[in-house]
Amino acid sequence: MAYATVNPYTGKTLKTFPTATLEEVDAALETAHAAFGVWKNEPIEERTFILDKAASLLEAERNEYAEMLTTEMGKIMSEAQAEVSVCVAILRYYVEHTKDLLRPRMLLTQGFGETDVHLVNDPTGIIFAVEPWNFPYYQVIRVAAPQLAAGNVVMLKHASNVPQCAALMERLFLEAGAPKGVFTNLYLPHDLTEHVIASPYVRGVALTGSEKAGAIIASLAGKHLKKSTLELGGMDAFIVLDDADIQLAAEWAVRGRNRNAGQVCVSSKRFIVVDAVYDEFVRRYRAEAAKLVPGDPADPKTTLAPLSSATAKQQVERQVADIVAQGAKIEYLVDVPKEGNFFPSALLTDIPEGSEATRTEIFGPVAQLYRAKDEADAIRIANDCPYGLGGSVFTSDIHHAQEIARQLDTGMVTINRASASGPDIPFGGVKNSGYGHELIDLGLKEFLNQKVVING
Ligand code: NAP
Repeated sequence: MAYATVNPYTGKTLKTFPTATLEEVDAALETAHAAFGVWKNEPIEERTFILDKAASLLEAERNEYAEMLTTEMGKIMSEAQAEVSVCVAILRYYVEHTKDLLRPRMLLTQGFGETDVHLVNDPTGIIFAVEPWNFPYYQVIRVAAPQLAAGNVVMLKHASNVPQCAALMERLFLEAGAPKGVFTNLYLPHDLTEHVIASPYVRGVALTGSEKAGAIIASLAGKHLKKSTLELGGMDAFIVLDDADIQLAAEWAVRGRNRNAGQVCVSSKRFIVVDAVYDEFVRRYRAEAAKLVPGDPADPKTTLAPLSSATAKQQVERQVADIVAQGAKIEYLVDVPKEGNFFPSALLTDIPEGSEATRTEIFGPVAQLYRAKDEADAIRIANDCPYGLGGSVFTSDIHHAQEIARQLDTGMVTINRASASGPDIPFGGVKNSGYGHELIDLGLKEFLNQKVVING
């Protein structure tokens, strides 16, 4: 695990970075702790003034920031620009709302006067953020904007394949005027992770990534009695009922499965279609997927990106081979360039019920299709999954869809569209997709001390 920029389209290693030494990590922890001592006492307006400045800088340099996403993880340019824009919107959300959201709350109690008991939100210290490469800025900003607004400071350990995006995040906050140590990027080797988590200055651990990394980091957090939040993988179900607009469903399905080359936690991954419309859905999915244009992610005509690394491509190839060995059929829907880490958009059908395949998150543009007998069967298949991140329901009856949404064992459900996210919509899953929330007041308060103050 060396920190390096390797262009996923050309395969060229463009830059490498040495990992931090123990001494550098300790120095960074001291600096961040000292910064926290000042930052926590700044008025909210001062802190959000810096977030506002960061939003303006990001907006003004949108293309420069977007280009680095394309260079380091192969994101197509339009999606890269959209990622920068949503980061700007999240920063501005907290500029506008933090003061209101952190307002002390008076509690009406039995034993004290009406204004005697109140709940205040106090910052706690360094929040250690371990983040993945698939949305190199968005994932970081989802944690950094609320935490910095609330008075905590952030120490980032980013994925090893996006070191320049990580450095740009640190530069952004420094240029916006945040004192050194308020936001720190560390090229942390795995073997120093526990050292950081164990530091008494670190008061929370936020990880976004795989189940495997989540379990490791959460155990370390538990061992050192630090609160953690986990945003992990998903196998989002995309249910299509017989009264759905099948063309609309097919268009969203292809978009939901192939965006960011399928490397999205809330990608639609399992398409569960009732028998009556299954064949029509498959035909339309094929037709829509055939319109995808794989190619140079910097070329505006490209709509299917390469995978983020050679290892990611090998992993998808291995997973598909395993699923086919278990009896499923694979169908490739587009031709992809020989160079670059491309994996074609594909359909997996005839997946044996209960097989390991039904529990495997594929981080690539491969759709798993399931034929459901009827609606109840579709809901059963959707919930028969270790993950519980998002999900979608397609039907012309919105009220009925809302009832189905309540039956899905996931943190998020969309109706008649693939996943939706926004600066003012919370994000989080259940089951093996993790715990805790990011965004709005839920994310803002995850690592605060909600302290009770009682007048005697
Ligand atoms: P990953 O391998 O778990 O990596 C995520 C982060 O954890 C990286 O910074 C990685 O650093 C670090 N990490 C992994 N093992 C570690 C260890 N033993 N000690 C310290 N740090 C460690 O995940 P990924 O493959 O990059 O990302 C894809 C996964 O993230 C998918 O499962 C996806 O669904 C999930 N995801 C979830 C959400 C959500 O919000 N729920 C959002 C995006 C992605 P290195 O690069 O140095 O290994």
